[in-house]
Amino acid sequence: MLKKTLLICWIIFLSLPSEGNAWGFFAHQRINRLAVFTLPEEMMKFYKYYIDYLTENAVNPDKRRYAVEGEAPRHYIDVDIYDPLYGDSAVYKLPRYWKQAVEAHGEDSLQAYGIVPWHIQTMKYRLTEAFKRRDAQAILNISADLGHYIGDANVPLHTTENYNGQMSNQIGIHGFWESRLPELFSDNYDFFVGQAQYLENTQLSAWDAVIQAHEALDSVLRFERVLTERFSADKKYTIDERNGLTIKTYSRDFSKAYHDMLAGQVERRMKASIKMIGNMWLTCWIDAGQPDLEALLDKDIRKELDEELQKQKEEWKKQQLKSREHESFAPIMPSQNTTCCQASPYLSYYGEKIKQIKAKK
Ligand SMILES: [Zn+2]
Repeated sequence: MLKKTLLICWIIFLSLPSEGNAWGFFAHQRINRLAVFTLPEEMMKFYKYYIDYLTENAVNPDKRRYAVEGEAPRHYIDVDIYDPLYGDSAVYKLPRYWKQAVEAHGEDSLQAYGIVPWHIQTMKYRLTEAFKRRDAQAILNISADLGHYIGDANVPLHTTENYNGQMSNQIGIHGFWESRLPELFSDNYDFFVGQAQYLENTQLSAWDAVIQAHEALDSVLRFERVLTERFSADKKYTIDERNGLTIKTYSRDFSKAYHDMLAGQVERRMKASIKMIGNMWLTCWIDAGQPDLEALLDKDIRKELDEELQKQKEEWKKQQLKSREHESFAPIMPSQNTTCCQASPYLSYYGEKIKQIKAKK
């Protein structure tokens, strides 16, 4: 009986980290949230006001993956499928623009093997249009979705046919890399990525993400194989409780050894995602003519927020917090060991105030 239960749980475990579920919910949410802090002041107030929305909805595209036709291929691109056609490095040679790609390979093939870099460009266009229309709801929905797809494009296992190690006897590696590792270790990452920057060519930037992710793929697969030879099966895996289910997952020791061997790779991919999301949101806003986002906030909320922020700034001054960022409403990055969704004391204070204002209304 026990054996049968374990077998069922093992199947659940193996089926969980499926393609299209990049970064896991936890990491997607953290990435979208932190991208807000890369934005310039003119965008920051609007995005910060809706930071919980952008965080929670970071996983919408995965949630609708099975419900919406055509959704699945937007999350990945199996670039190695094309290698025989382009020598061994299709990722550097595939047509960058959708129209040329369709001419070269036909839309059916493209959809079959994934379209993430091109879909990012589609979303870029949609977000720019939403800014032009001053459509707050669309700006938020599309920003959240775009953040998700950019996160996906930065995941090495989203650039390969062997997305869950199913072709190399490494089944489960997808969720291992993108969910288990960030959950165990990302509290200690340094997420400082600086200010968002304007992107001259968003389509090529989307491809840069895919290229960098794909270049990391060899290590992702190889290091897991190397360590599997060093760990016996009972040391490699552990039995864990999750949402009332007993599941088999990678042990802490194995996870740590793998994470150490990857030498900051997961952190680098997460940071690249955060920075690129900030860059893309900023670029859409600039391309739309830099609309006044504060005007999109409800007047009463805006007034109360301004007052609260003023008070907050004065309090910080009183406490002799010398950091310039604290006083200037500039991005404040989380210190190490903060938990997700509490990027800074300043932000949590701010978040509390928003809740109070909302409750009052
Ligand atoms: Zn996804």
